[in-house]
Amino acid sequence: MTTVLENQAENIISLEKEQRGFSWNNFLDSLKSIVGERLFNNWFISCHFITLRANHLTFSVKNKFIRKWVEDNYKSYIMTACNKFDIKTFEISLQEENLPEIKVKSKLEQDNLSQFDDKYTFKNFVVGSSNEIAHAAAFSVADSEYVNKRSNPLFLYGNVGLGKTHLLHAIGHYTQQKFPSKRVLYMSAEKFVQSFVNALMNNSSQFRNLLRSVDILMIDDIQFICGKNKTQEEFFNTFNILLENSKQIVISCDKPPSYLDKIEERLKSRLAWGLTVDIHETNYELRLGILKSKIQHTKYKIQDDVLEFLAENISSSVRELEGGLNKIIMYADLLKVSITLDVAKNIMKDVINIKHEKLSIDEIQTKVCNYYKISLKDMLSVSRKRSLVRARQISMYLAKQFTSYSLIQISRQFDRKDHTTVLHAIQLIKTLYANDENMKQQIDDIIDLLG
Ligand code: ADP
Ligand code: MG
Repeated sequence: MTTVLENQAENIISLEKEQRGFSWNNFLDSLKSIVGERLFNNWFISCHFITLRANHLTFSVKNKFIRKWVEDNYKSYIMTACNKFDIKTFEISLQEENLPEIKVKSKLEQDNLSQFDDKYTFKNFVVGSSNEIAHAAAFSVADSEYVNKRSNPLFLYGNVGLGKTHLLHAIGHYTQQKFPSKRVLYMSAEKFVQSFVNALMNNSSQFRNLLRSVDILMIDDIQFICGKNKTQEEFFNTFNILLENSKQIVISCDKPPSYLDKIEERLKSRLAWGLTVDIHETNYELRLGILKSKIQHTKYKIQDDVLEFLAENISSSVRELEGGLNKIIMYADLLKVSITLDVAKNIMKDVINIKHEKLSIDEIQTKVCNYYKISLKDMLSVSRKRSLVRARQISMYLAKQFTSYSLIQISRQFDRKDHTTVLHAIQLIKTLYANDENMKQQIDDIIDLLG
């Protein structure tokens, strides 16, 4: 098999034999002097000599577009360049290179397309009642080949740290696995504003073209475009074009569309056109599930009661929960010890406002039993006798009020497997305390006994 280089060498030999006065490099120099350096660099810099036979010059250019342009605009200049050589007639044909065209992504595309964090996948997303609809909606967008009008745009909203960005990345990640030819663009709204302003300053349509060429456009934290009128306009136009072309749009926000301030009404209503789903605050089970899932991906073993303690005490956002876990892991690593609940409490004391235990659950149980004149054994039994049940529930309530033990830890101290019993007891006694004078008095008396 002959290579391109070998072919060229052969052609040069045949050229030397046929037209000794002609040199490809001289021809190029001549052409450059005729058209000028700038135009030459634009159109001729990458052309290659192929043959010169019987006054017929053949050379290649890079692609169809250049071929057409050169044929339409530069034929006469090429003729002039050729006339400088001792060759009387020329016939010019241009030929496309047969090399496959390597698609080079623009810097803008490289920066924005296809960059999804491996950490943020559907597999790593723990589903609970607060986020299951958001998860299902996001998954359906990623899993469907065609856009479902009813979920376009998909608008996910919720407080900070509850997994919105995670879900957006998961959509990107999953789509790229399942439909590699789909173009997915993820952008924070801040980056969107920045890129838009840059494009305006450079008078460039590249950004606009990029936005409009994608199959899935995801804008994270859309609240950041509030008050930025020009950016909103651009976004609105892109939004309409993508929707008309049945392309998917996914938006995340810290509030529902109707609560967005300083945003045009027409955009506000568009945002709510498709499916709007909120991610609620996490509950204890989900937080514990997330911690267990995160710890599985590390080499560390953290005792269940430490994870329970974190899940119980950090309820604001999953990000903070993760922060707590990372802090524990860091200490475990530094101290080379396994982290017990007491060590964990100490590590977290700046973050979590821990009530310092003056009381133990045992003491509370004993005081309650003394007050109602029942035995501890009876109170801890499974008897449904009303007086025992009530004493048990009050003890659980006080344990939660006056210690920092988790629901699960409290349930263990009462020989119960299920912590929802404790939760139920606490809620019930809270209500009674607020509404039942007699009960309030009894509880206050016991609290006095506890000192
Ligand atoms: P938001 O964008 O809503 O502010 P993020 O998506 O950035 O929140 O989530 C914050 C952190 O919490 C991320 O590290 C994310 O992986 C994690 N996270 C949130 N929800 C979950 C979940 N349900 N399962 C696993 N990790 C979660
Ligand atoms: Mg986010």
